[in-house]
Amino acid sequence: MKYYIWTEGCQMNVTDSQRVSSALESLGYASTLKPEEASVIVLNTCVVRQSAENKAYGRLNSLAPLKKANPDLVINLMGCLVGIRTSDKLRDRFPYVDVFSPPSDPGPLLAYLTQDDVRQKMLEETRQRNAWMDEDLPLPEAEHGRLVAAHIPIVLGCSHACTYCIIPYRRGVERSRPAADILKEARSLVRQGVKEITLLGQIVDRYGLDDPSLPNLTGLLKQLNEIDGLERIRFLTSHPNWMTDELLEAVASLDKVCPHIEVPIQAGDDEVLANMKRGYTAEQYRRLVEKLRAVIPDVSIATDIIVGFPGETADQFQHTYDLLADLKMDVAHLARYSPREGTVSARRMPDDVPAEEKMRRFRLLEDLQEKIAAEIHARYQGQTVPVLFEDKVKSRWRGRTTTNKLVFVESEADLRGKVVPVQITWTGPWSMQSRLQD
Ligand code: SAM
Repeated sequence: MKYYIWTEGCQMNVTDSQRVSSALESLGYASTLKPEEASVIVLNTCVVRQSAENKAYGRLNSLAPLKKANPDLVINLMGCLVGIRTSDKLRDRFPYVDVFSPPSDPGPLLAYLTQDDVRQKMLEETRQRNAWMDEDLPLPEAEHGRLVAAHIPIVLGCSHACTYCIIPYRRGVERSRPAADILKEARSLVRQGVKEITLLGQIVDRYGLDDPSLPNLTGLLKQLNEIDGLERIRFLTSHPNWMTDELLEAVASLDKVCPHIEVPIQAGDDEVLANMKRGYTAEQYRRLVEKLRAVIPDVSIATDIIVGFPGETADQFQHTYDLLADLKMDVAHLARYSPREGTVSARRMPDDVPAEEKMRRFRLLEDLQEKIAAEIHARYQGQTVPVLFEDKVKSRWRGRTTTNKLVFVESEADLRGKVVPVQITWTGPWSMQSRLQD
């Protein structure tokens, strides 16, 4: 009874896969890294860009011979390729897939695996009930006692409908999870050794706004900040329009909440932003960045940018380039526009920026960002900063600063899960090296 799980896409998918793994392990399955050894294979898919969707089809095609050789193999297709309603087209194209599951829902796979086995089902239900009564969300075996930084989804779906984005079609409308469940999950993770949690949502700063009985994100952060044993709290992804003064002040004042904000701009030109239906102007975004820097000391800010959106002219791209050069963000996640079936931009706006031009714009921003990141990191040279170490890669421990900078240190000691002050001895655009204090 082994399972193999393949995950593509965002942190939300990574946590969804963790939940599937821990549910499968509660049914007695053990994890394997070899699909040919598995009796259950889960493909957790992403379709945010065409390249991700192509990868999922590639993996699906590669499973056909395995299923042919072993008809008892259970294949579960999960995530955004399936969406909230499975299409007949997908079922017809991949008849050897046994179970289709929407994003964040291990239910269909568990129901399938336990359908003929009443005893197994009862056992599973009892375990589930006990787990809840113990307030426990068991981590998958491979991560138990090892995972230092975990994610907790707090807002599922999205209702904003940016014209390029497929997520609302595949993950459904925005739903905030009950605060009590989130707190329970956080406490349970901490009991299993987790020191840092990252709260996830497509627009995480809208937490609670869809349900008047819930606190807002600030209120939730205040409650999480009280959990003993939890060292750090992060949240992503924020939308500029819901980053309130109250939230900024909470980030500045709550000792466990890290000064690191992920707030995508997507474009630095007002017409492109309007075509994307983002709901703000470049100037409003600039003012938000200024405010973040004024209110939260040493804040690090990450952004997302799409180049080559339909109709984006060379001048409009230049506005994005100039804004990025001026704002000097810590991180820029860059993407080339990829039309996604069913979205407003794919239906109504011709994908008219040629692929080579998208690549040229992408490379220009990549080069610019590399210089900016190197410049920002150089300021850390010689400083002593607290780093939470997560794992060891060869002889070096790898961890992060509160500002989410990747830091390595050579040490024979066991630093997993420890916050240790280190002195930065080398900096580059993507990471830093350090040494332990004497
Ligand atoms: N909900 C977040 C936001 O505020 O946009 C992030 C969601 S998405 C998983 C992550 C990033 O993928 C987006 O910020 C955007 O830059 C990129 N993305 C989304 N749709 C895209 C598309 N059709 N083509 C290229 N990039 C896209």
